[in-house]
Amino acid sequence: MTETSPRAKDDCIFCRIVSGDVAASIVSESDDAIAFRDVNPKAPTHLLVVPRSHVSSMDDATEADGLGDLLLFAAQVAREQGLSRRGYRIVINIGENGGQTVEHLHLHVLGGRRLAWPPG
Ligand code: 5GP
Ligand code: ZN
Repeated sequence: MTETSPRAKDDCIFCRIVSGDVAASIVSESDDAIAFRDVNPKAPTHLLVVPRSHVSSMDDATEADGLGDLLLFAAQVAREQGLSRRGYRIVINIGENGGQTVEHLHLHVLGGRRLAWPPG
């Protein structure tokens, strides 16, 4: 899909993946979001679920960003990837202390191994 989001940001790596400018291993797409494999996976299955529209962070999200749908899409993708039976984790890193490195809101979907708690 090479559709350009109305809120695309030229210097944002995830906007560039959404637009098709940068390649990614896309596993699922909806009208509002895409899911692709993390380039540096932290678990056997490590997907990133991102809204097509640029939103910098969960801290900047509003009701209009449809986060309920984004979360349901992530769960659907996890089911399709066979993660439901053993379980998995959905993570949102926010800001510096949260460990956010890409300033385009994204959900990590991690599964395929037993994950430690609490996170480091
Ligand atoms: P954060 O640290 O912001 O929560 O997560 C950003 C994630 O994006 C990291 O896990 C990192 O490996 C991943 N990532 C960064 N750049 C790219 C890229 O160009 N392609 C893909 N597929 N993943 C990326
Ligand atoms: Zn972006």
